[in-house]
Amino acid sequence: MLNKAAFAEIPDVPEEAPLVVFVDLAGFKAVNDGFGHAVGDAVLREVGTRLSAAADQFAGVAYHLSGDEFAMVFSQDEQRDPDLMAAVASDLGRVEVPVEGRPASASVELFFGFAPRDLEQTLAELLKRAERAADEAKDLRQPWVEWTPELGSDEIVNWRRKCAGCGASTSLQVRKRKVAEPQSGLCANCGSVLPITVGT
Ligand SMILES: [Zn+2]
Repeated sequence: MLNKAAFAEIPDVPEEAPLVVFVDLAGFKAVNDGFGHAVGDAVLREVGTRLSAAADQFAGVAYHLSGDEFAMVFSQDEQRDPDLMAAVASDLGRVEVPVEGRPASASVELFFGFAPRDLEQTLAELLKRAERAADEAKDLRQPWVEWTPELGSDEIVNWRRKCAGCGASTSLQVRKRKVAEPQSGLCANCGSVLPITVGT
């Protein structure tokens, strides 16, 4: 399977901007912790095999970027994209590998983020968008999400808040896109709820 270096070598040809897919695995750490690294590696190999087969179906290429991160790249064909997204993501919601001597098989869930053609963007930027979309899919527990501008490309912002209860300062991570929605964090020192409001 092609790796991250191979992904980085894909030339940026704007007029041929591809559809980029980021694949995020959920449950991989639990597999490694519960079954050991050999089983973890077997799960990653199986994910790679399945993704390569899915990519082949639509004349795409799958990449193993690192650890539990995979990507796929498809030449652009806007007519085909909706079918591709539904087919790839729904066929591959879960990958299971039987483990010798254990009743339960090792399994991971796959979440897909799709970043469609954008003539203005480099491949690296499209990958970032796809990753953001996959992250959103994982959050929403839905098989896949297609990137839209409202997801933004920079996802997390750090906010420092002084706790009204104990006076300690706490760093809170907030999703920028969701800043307009009511959010709160907890004081790291006393556990008081710290409200987060726009513009503060
Ligand atoms: Zn506090």
